[in-house]
Amino acid sequence: MSYLVLARKWRPKTFSEVVGQQHVLRALINGLDQNRLHHAFLFSGTRGVGKTTLARILAKSLNCEQGVSSTPCGECQSCQEVDAGRFVDLIEVDAASRTKVDDTRELLDNVQYAPSRGRYKVYLIDEVHMLSTSSFNALLKTLEEPPPHVKFLFATTDPQKLPVTILSRCLQFNLRRLDITQISEHLADILQKEVIEFEQTALIEIARAADGSMRDALSLLDQAISFGAGKVSSEQIHQMLGSISQQQIHTLMKALIDHDGHDLLQQSHELSAQGRDFNTVLNELLATLQQIATIQLVPNLEHSDDSDYEQLQSLGQKISPEIVQLFYQIALHGKRDLPYAADPKSGFEMTLLRMLSFQPKVIGTKNHVDLTTTVPPVQTQQKSAQNTSTNPRQVHTELEQNAATTEFQQPEPIQPLQVEEPKAVEVTSDVTPVDSASEILNASNWLSTIGSLKLTAFARQLADNSAFIKSEGDKVTLAIAPELAHLANPKAQERLELVLGKHLDQTIKLIFTQNTEQYLTATATLAAEQSEQAKQNQQQAADSIHNDPAIDALKQTFNARIIESSIKPITEDKK
Ligand SMILES: [Zn+2]
Repeated sequence: MSYLVLARKWRPKTFSEVVGQQHVLRALINGLDQNRLHHAFLFSGTRGVGKTTLARILAKSLNCEQGVSSTPCGECQSCQEVDAGRFVDLIEVDAASRTKVDDTRELLDNVQYAPSRGRYKVYLIDEVHMLSTSSFNALLKTLEEPPPHVKFLFATTDPQKLPVTILSRCLQFNLRRLDITQISEHLADILQKEVIEFEQTALIEIARAADGSMRDALSLLDQAISFGAGKVSSEQIHQMLGSISQQQIHTLMKALIDHDGHDLLQQSHELSAQGRDFNTVLNELLATLQQIATIQLVPNLEHSDDSDYEQLQSLGQKISPEIVQLFYQIALHGKRDLPYAADPKSGFEMTLLRMLSFQPKVIGTKNHVDLTTTVPPVQTQQKSAQNTSTNPRQVHTELEQNAATTEFQQPEPIQPLQVEEPKAVEVTSDVTPVDSASEILNASNWLSTIGSLKLTAFARQLADNSAFIKSEGDKVTLAIAPELAHLANPKAQERLELVLGKHLDQTIKLIFTQNTEQYLTATATLAAEQSEQAKQNQQQAADSIHNDPAIDALKQTFNARIIESSIKPITEDKK
């Protein structure tokens, strides 16, 4: 006996076996049981969500020899013929292959004749939007005065293309894509009945790949069964789909968050060696980023679908929502550009590296002074703290909600782009309000003014990298380095104008010049100043360690040496 594909073998034979689409089922069942069924239905929805299946069950319900009901017997000749796909009064037409008006005429000529075996003729016209205009006109005449023994079921993936005259004569239902749980549970049910072993995660991967279509899911399951020689496992599914596991995606995300380029490229090599499809990998990365963004921004949502909710949540805590959005955008572009890359692997790696270049670098996870013999960390901490407290100005850093930072014995190194606290310089608050920005903003107070503003990440980057040129009336001219010109995007600019305007209590219009000469001769930017400050702090911290007699004694006694890269300055708020 030949192998019957699962989709056919397990095609629902009654309404109660249909997965999902409860809203449609209810309308059909009620109509059948009260014998008040509309004569034309339009099912819109993507492929493989059950349009034909519903039409068949409906044809059976209407023609069962036991009488019209929502629970046809399944035993009588009519029921069996419908199930076998050879019931003469169920007429299935694929409009995609029958667009000529003659074909439709021929079809509609027969509408007038009584059904040959059953009570009703059921016409299922698939992809009905493909009919030509004249075919629609022919159809419309029938729909206006339908013979009582005829039911029309139209199916389409594109209801927008249907004429309003047709739409208005149909009861319209939008068949929903099936969700991952609905599909995976149905697959599990079938595999149990077929007595085939499976891993739950494998079914979820299939459900995800099927993208809402039960038919696609079942045909993937067919492949998986033959591929896996009797067992359905996650690894086989990944090989089959060229996809990667959620765990692998999470490892990839972790390397990005940790700014670990070496690990990222290593992972890319492994994916390539495993024969993964990089387009699929990018798709999964996109899906994961979308899930993280959802958890970050809509935290109270139900997440029953995500078996790895906790892992996603933990990733989401280590990365800012803005960066997640940026990564998403980069991945999207990466996917678009993949066909143009020299090869898929290099295109994929370029996408990861681009993300890496935007992810703020967390330098040095080992912040204590790393001597080759153990040094009580408290001692060195006190020393450097004493020293840096003499710094003329301390820059406060906004710590990301990074779980890793809790392990730090000393604070994070200075991150120039995340300054939050105002500087100890006179600010504009004690200046009497005047009409023009020109009298408030000038080269000497520019840095302190923008330093005191509360800004979102992108506006902050823009502000920190902008040098003051001049201000006239409400117009403030700023210079930005040509290589950073992308920071002056309309959104960031608008945001900065808004916050600056609010601060100065007047409208501000920012004008950006990319004139390099002007930029070079202008006052330093906050970012440059902070970078200079960071260098000085680093030097001071290093000096304090090298000049510390206690450390010197340790070096002498234990033959210890100082690992230079482990020396980090300490900032005031973390003492
Ligand atoms: Zn029957």
